[in-house]
Amino acid sequence: MSVPEGAAGPADPDGLEDRLRRFATIWSRAVFPATATPLTRAEFEECLLPLARLLRDALHARSFDTTPGGTVGAGLVAAHCTDPEALNRTLGVIDSYLILYCGTDELPAEDSRARCARLQHTLAAAYAQALRERTLAEQEAIARSALAARSDAEDALHATQTRFHAVFEGAAIGIGIGDLDGNVLEVNDTLTQMFGGLEHHVRSRNISEWVHPEDSPHVWRMYGELVRGEREHFRVEKAFYRNDGTVLWTNLTLSLLRDAEGAPQYQLALMEDTTERRLLNLRLRYEATHDALTGLPNRTLFFERLEKTLSAGDDARFGLCYLDLDGFKAINDSLGHSSGDRLLVEVADRLQSCATAQGEMVARIGGDEFVALTTGPGTEGKVTDLADRILNVLSTPVRLEGREFTVRGSIGIVEGPSAGRSPAEVLRSADITMYRAKAAGGNRYELADPEADARAITRHGLTTALPTALERGEFFIEYQPLVDLDDGTVHGAEALVRWSHPQHGVLGPDRFIPLAEHTGLIVPLGRWVLEQSVRQARFWQQELPEGALGGPLRINVNLSPAQLHHPGLVADTVEVLERIGLPPGSLCLEVTESALIGADEDLLKPLRQLAEMGVDIALDDFGTGYSNLANLRRLPVSVLKLDRSFTQGMQQHPADPVDLKIVEGIVSLAHSLELAVTVEGVETGAQAEQLRRLGCDTAQGWYYARPGPPEQLHTLSLADAV
Ligand code: C2E
Ligand code: CA
Ligand code: CA
Repeated sequence: MSVPEGAAGPADPDGLEDRLRRFATIWSRAVFPATATPLTRAEFEECLLPLARLLRDALHARSFDTTPGGTVGAGLVAAHCTDPEALNRTLGVIDSYLILYCGTDELPAEDSRARCARLQHTLAAAYAQALRERTLAEQEAIARSALAARSDAEDALHATQTRFHAVFEGAAIGIGIGDLDGNVLEVNDTLTQMFGGLEHHVRSRNISEWVHPEDSPHVWRMYGELVRGEREHFRVEKAFYRNDGTVLWTNLTLSLLRDAEGAPQYQLALMEDTTERRLLNLRLRYEATHDALTGLPNRTLFFERLEKTLSAGDDARFGLCYLDLDGFKAINDSLGHSSGDRLLVEVADRLQSCATAQGEMVARIGGDEFVALTTGPGTEGKVTDLADRILNVLSTPVRLEGREFTVRGSIGIVEGPSAGRSPAEVLRSADITMYRAKAAGGNRYELADPEADARAITRHGLTTALPTALERGEFFIEYQPLVDLDDGTVHGAEALVRWSHPQHGVLGPDRFIPLAEHTGLIVPLGRWVLEQSVRQARFWQQELPEGALGGPLRINVNLSPAQLHHPGLVADTVEVLERIGLPPGSLCLEVTESALIGADEDLLKPLRQLAEMGVDIALDDFGTGYSNLANLRRLPVSVLKLDRSFTQGMQQHPADPVDLKIVEGIVSLAHSLELAVTVEGVETGAQAEQLRRLGCDTAQGWYYARPGPPEQLHTLSLADAV
């Protein structure tokens, strides 16, 4: 049996070498496109491996020393990583992966980080130094050989014809001699080779025929000056057509040779073939501006284009579609990255087919994020057409691993006059708008709207501030009494969380609970609310005279859907109740009707376990979720909380008869299922009376008390007792 690639063999029991190898692979993948190395990627990786080992050993060393960082920096330059981008990428890879793959448990994490940072510094400094030395050395070598060739040639001309030829033929640089009328007299072998290998192809030409469309105009002006004896030499980058039509790029130095008396006699051309280097540069430029996977322009090129578009002048307009695939992560996670990659390639091809008109461009700017840009007049209509076309081409399923996948996308559109906007601003607006399309269910486009942007930006701000808010103790809880409709005594209270935001003041839960839900912070936040509320209930039970109240005060705590799905729900709740010493029967968890619609047994199980222990479960906002009443039987709930909207219907005089009928029906159904009914949003005595007559058990609302500090309960329940 063969050992699969990447498995730790017996020689590497801890997998250290294996991880080092993976680090080297990542590093070489990142840096290879930015090198001028003649090696293949795999060979290049072999070069990096010893450097990676130096870094790892430095990270692990008993006494730390930065020298290996310097060795690695110089090593990179020696390995032809002379494009500064190679350094950038190297630092990025070290930052993200060195500790991950080559870290050690024997050092505290912050020490590893510090070592990593110092290695990066030394590496960068040594890299810069080595690059400078190398560049200087190269420049000197070129200058020396040009000078040598020139003075040797002059000497030779003045001396003997034989020696002249020896210099000529031995030179690694292309050398040609012409008379002042432009006739080619002598060329060396190197120069002949540059032009394709046939000497007469070169010899038969007059220099003035070697015009190329990319010549800058002053080339021929300087040439005129030189042959007239008004200039000693000049140096340009110049292209030539070879006889077969291909192009030769050169660094050309043309010098005037004078005779012993100083009169102009010949012209001497020294040529260095730069065709390969130019191609390499073009390739590097291509690679730096295109996405390796899909071949589409990448973020860099897109930004360049967008920048150009935005600075195109006062009347110019642009339209931008920002596309993010819906549910791409799920496909990637379930089918693996190579299938994910194939999907992206397919999407890229389809997108490209949508934007073929003049002034249109498609780019991939992130994992599953693409943009399409359109310019020119009429972008208002063009950009929505483009978005329609994109959604349309995506709608054909993609076949992967024998299965069909439907790819959907959300598009944010920004359209308008180019003037006065920066690319970053436009992209942010498009991104926010794309999220709006996603939030509205995806598979659609939305148009940017400055007001919605502003709202989204505050939302974004709140979202990022949430985690620290919990640490800093910016949340607090208000309690709203729950009152028995028969005798008006206080039964308990609902805990309602608030955020005392340092800039925006006190924020209600509707502003931040959905965000906390979205980011997952709701789990720790909910746990905190539970603990505080249970503590508060325990305190009330100890402090308030129970006999007068008709039973111990109870506490209602809201649970959001994400908490319901969290595997620790039951254990956390039990732990809090036991630690604080509150009987389970004193706690009621409120779950919204909509969170339980369509719930399967797995989701209900934790609630069922809690209910079996004696915790009450209330169905909150009942009547808004259109749940099947017959379904109630299946759910582990013991309380229905009728939504505020029913109570509002009772505000009118006379009360809405349909609402009355509905409430009456719900109450009798609930009672037949042995569920208690609580009503919310009771604002007047008339409503309270009406609801009491309809058979509701408990009420909550401003008529009794607004949500407030816990002390409010003391006053109210003591008033009851009296
Ligand atoms: P809810 O559970 O339906 O809470 C009742 C809401 O009605 C509260 O709004 C309360 O202040 C308000 N209210 C009470 N009496 C009246 C009244 O007579 N008239 C009117 N018009 N309104 C009344 P609040 O505090 O803004 O809470 C909004 C929602 O935020 C809650 O709705 C609940 O779903 C959620 N929430 C509050 N605290 C938490 C929490 O700790 N965790 C979770 N997951 N959600 C919470
Ligand atoms: Ca509630
Ligand atoms: Ca409610």
